[in-house]
Amino acid sequence: MARKPIIAGNWKMHNNVSESIELTKGIIKGVKDLDKNTLPEIVIAPVFTSLYPVSKELEGCDKVSLSSQNCYFEPKGAFTGEISIDMLKDLNVSYIIIGHSERRQYFKEDDELINKKAIAILEAGLTPIICCGETLEQREMGVTDSHISSQIVKALEGISPENVEKTVIAYEPIWAIGTGKTCDSKEANRVIQQIRKTVAQVAGSAIAEKVRILYGGSVKPATIVEQMAQSDIDGALVGGASLQAESFIEIIKGAIK
Ligand code: PEP
Repeated sequence: MARKPIIAGNWKMHNNVSESIELTKGIIKGVKDLDKNTLPEIVIAPVFTSLYPVSKELEGCDKVSLSSQNCYFEPKGAFTGEISIDMLKDLNVSYIIIGHSERRQYFKEDDELINKKAIAILEAGLTPIICCGETLEQREMGVTDSHISSQIVKALEGISPENVEKTVIAYEPIWAIGTGKTCDSKEANRVIQQIRKTVAQVAGSAIAEKVRILYGGSVKPATIVEQMAQSDIDGALVGGASLQAESFIEIIKGAIK
């Protein structure tokens, strides 16, 4: 069965409540007349403070799902500043981005923590979007594939094949994030095929064939069609170009199958 594409917008630390509502309205308007059967799954990830108002705005819209940009794996307790998965579920959040390179770099999140989050998200019935990717230095040293394979093996440790099947993976070369430099589509596809092989080693090839693996890193309306034409790229995690309804809608349209 064909893998349903996903276009996910990561708003990062942008947009207060009114800006988030305005952007959500623009996205809803932009997809209103598009046929749901041919559309990719559309996901938006606002900041925590906008999740509730955006979830209210999305009521009655069955074409756009809500994601959070992070979570903590513990269910409750003395974890100042953190948000539990149940708290996110309460706001109709269905996806959670974990392991984004900005969280790994600036907040020192490691593979072990990302694995704990992935397990807790799947146990709660939500979908983790697990990010992986290499630095420019790692690419130049020729260790891209081994680095990414190690990130994926560690992120999926202890997760049953049935749950691995439900995860979404995003391959995001760090040197392509927010830089305007997209990874060559064929190279992104090659790395994603390597990720699929790693998933097959962890959970079997039948499961690996079903896991959706996205590309992220300066995706724009001008790049999406070629990216979506690749055999193993199942959609995109979009940062900058998801902050304007027009460009996000153009990317969604470029992913219509
Ligand atoms: C991202 O934030 O995950 C991302 C890929 O950002 P950008 O599209 O801006 O490179």
